[in-house]
Amino acid sequence: MDERSFRNAMGTFPTGVTVITTKVGSDVHGMTANAFMSVSLNPQLLLISIDEKASMLDKIRQTNRFGLSILADHQLDFSMHFAGQKKKDQDIKFDWVNGMPVIPDALAQIACTVEKTFVAGDHTLFLGKADHIVMNEGEAPLIFYKGNYQSLKL
Ligand code: FAD
Repeated sequence: MDERSFRNAMGTFPTGVTVITTKVGSDVHGMTANAFMSVSLNPQLLLISIDEKASMLDKIRQTNRFGLSILADHQLDFSMHFAGQKKKDQDIKFDWVNGMPVIPDALAQIACTVEKTFVAGDHTLFLGKADHIVMNEGEAPLIFYKGNYQSLKL
């Protein structure tokens, strides 16, 4: 099976869209990610998967902390920006949760501390403990399906 077939098959699983963030010194860095899952309620754990080529990887290794923002459907621009799909530089104003930068008005803004790290093929999995969560309710989520953005109107 080739890489394209695998990617196409995985793309038939619809996901939400998140922006992962961290802060190294005074520099904030963000990247779009849909490889995210809730893992455990007690303790409250979640998992993200970061490509070995992403500059985010070394940054989370350095800080051992990250922010995770679950995007609403009106936040497509943030997703495209933090996936490097927009040409223009943009000055982003972040919210802050427990010392971690997060995306303003995201459906959920979560500050995490890395509990465990697993290298898995060409990605690294970070198991994060949720230190603090802020919910901003009342919007539909941004959806990613078969390589395209969708909206789930509730
Ligand atoms: P860069 O490519 O350098 O940064 C990403 C973009 O964010 C750049 O445009 C940069 O200018 C901008 N940026 C970063 N920080 C700031 C800041 N402080 N202020 C303003 N702009 C800033 N990759 C994975 O590894 N795992 C996934 O789960 C995953 N899921 C994805 C889901 C979707 C829907 C999409 C579209 C992409 C996904 N990617 C995923 C790919 C990933 O988002 C891109 O490869 C991304 O460019 C990798 O980011 P980077 O850390 O290498 O940094």
